[in-house]
Amino acid sequence: MNPFLELGIRHDIVNAITELGFEKPSPIQEKAIPVLLTGNDDFVGLAQTGTGKTAAFGLPLLEQLDFTVKQPQALVLCPTRELCLQIARDLEKFAKFIDNVHVVAVYGGANISDQLRQIRRGVQIVVATPGRMLDIIGRNAIDFSKVKYVVLDEADEMLNMGFQEDINNILSETPDYKKTWLFSATMPKEVRRIAQNYMTDPVELTVGTKNTGNANIEHNYYMIKAKDKYAAFKRIVDYYPDIFGIVFCRTKIETQEIAEALIKDGYNADSLHGDLSQQQRDKVMKRYRERNLQLLIATDVAARGIDVNDVTHVINYSLPDETENYTHRSGRTARAGKTGISISLINIKEMSKIRHIEKIIGKEFVRKQVPQGTEVCEKQLFAIVDNVHNVEVHEDQINTFLPQILESLQDLTKEEVIKRFASLEFNRFLNYYKNAPDLNIDGKETKFDREKDGSSRRTSSKGFTRLFINLGSVDEFSRGEMLGFICNNSKISGKSIGKIDLKGVFTFFEVQDEEVEKVFQGFKEVEYNGRSVRIEVSGEGRSSSSSSDRGGRRRSSDRSSDRGGDRNGSRSGSGRKERSGGGFKDFSGKRRESKSRY
Ligand code: AMP
Repeated sequence: MNPFLELGIRHDIVNAITELGFEKPSPIQEKAIPVLLTGNDDFVGLAQTGTGKTAAFGLPLLEQLDFTVKQPQALVLCPTRELCLQIARDLEKFAKFIDNVHVVAVYGGANISDQLRQIRRGVQIVVATPGRMLDIIGRNAIDFSKVKYVVLDEADEMLNMGFQEDINNILSETPDYKKTWLFSATMPKEVRRIAQNYMTDPVELTVGTKNTGNANIEHNYYMIKAKDKYAAFKRIVDYYPDIFGIVFCRTKIETQEIAEALIKDGYNADSLHGDLSQQQRDKVMKRYRERNLQLLIATDVAARGIDVNDVTHVINYSLPDETENYTHRSGRTARAGKTGISISLINIKEMSKIRHIEKIIGKEFVRKQVPQGTEVCEKQLFAIVDNVHNVEVHEDQINTFLPQILESLQDLTKEEVIKRFASLEFNRFLNYYKNAPDLNIDGKETKFDREKDGSSRRTSSKGFTRLFINLGSVDEFSRGEMLGFICNNSKISGKSIGKIDLKGVFTFFEVQDEEVEKVFQGFKEVEYNGRSVRIEVSGEGRSSSSSSDRGGRRRSSDRSSDRGGDRNGSRSGSGRKERSGGGFKDFSGKRRESKSRY
């Protein structure tokens, strides 16, 4: 007998989920469904994202609502628009064979009239983000008097995002007799307080150990110098040719800078952050979901609710400020029983943070060595060999040319042909990694290292202001060249510049306080390699850049997707729609305007 039937789910729902490939319940479903099917209890479920929570509450809801009545009987609150749409879609799929089920997704950033119209037509399940829900309640546009169940999904995320008061207000609109089911990946005291304030003797369930990172996630860290971070990051990405990853940064600026640098280096990457409009976000997510992007560079807030399966790697380009966020980040991989790798790029001073995270997730990190150039080349070579196996052959089209191809290759042995075809791509990797240095540090940083990479300096010297510029060593600036570039554009003397801290994709530099304004003025309209140059006061919001900045980046990434391939126009047949082709071409010769920058 189907195990879902055994749990008490009826045939028409089981038929629908079987079509979705659900063969047996996930651990949270196995534990939660029997409790929730009774409909008698409040409930707290501690489970990570991607564990099958939606069905854990969705199937019992569908079992218990009366679909002959067209009034809201269940309200699901969740933190983001993406999650809201996902839950509504999932519920509709589970209910495929039940008549008259009406689900509405209510979320901000979309036309409210459409949502109001759907509510007026009659719905039984409302899936909502708190802000828009309150808006609709405020318009007296919804009647919650028949609500029997309220689900708070990703409760910790909702509280993180400051929805506490909104949730209180919404809950006060629902009847006292309703049951509240709360799901959360973590249980900080704020979530615990909701359970205490709004629930009566809730049944509590934990999947896995409390606050434990998903068992299927391998946690690795690489210790590198700050100045080598970008190079090490690319090397790790190149070491995993089939990577489909989310890269987390701490700030919007960092996401943009990394994405821009990656695009420039030929990777299929784009950034997701709070400055994007909803439409832009949707577009990026669509490309990622469809695998036209291989790397999604995101901030914590922007990545909330990302529900993409098969993410192979989460990369913490910067560790999160809040340790809790590490759990959320790494939970984006290893969804639905799959395995995944969570990678952190750290400098020596961040080791204590790793130890702290280990305590929280109850798992040890493994220190990995940044692969050597030769190791990357080997990996890429065998990826090419795999691609030969997997490539889709368009028989009718290639057959026309085959006799001619065979004829022109007839002087070569089979081995020669194979060698040459493999070399076509492999040579680029060999060239790029020819003299690649070892990027690992041995864990014992010297004073010299610290001073050299400047990472220990965060504050500016007396009488100087520390500024940020979005160009760095990947743009092939040396410190001297950066000094010249700044002085020339700002029309100030080199004596006014203090320390220059050259990083991968950006640089910090000090300027005498009285000259700062000149730098801002001087860089107002400056572009470098088609990219707007941006200056900011380090750690503050103040900035100067010309308006084409983000537009330029997006255009370039869009172009790569329009072509349906990477910048080399290639597509692989290894099950991935596109592949990066690596950041090799750019570095193996054709750098642009490197000497004409002044
Ligand atoms: P969720 O945590 O609800 O977002 O689910 C994560 C993913 O797992 C979704 O793609 C679900 O469709 C899938 N899923 C949920 N439950 C099962 C199951 N019992 N068997 C197979 N896949 C599932």
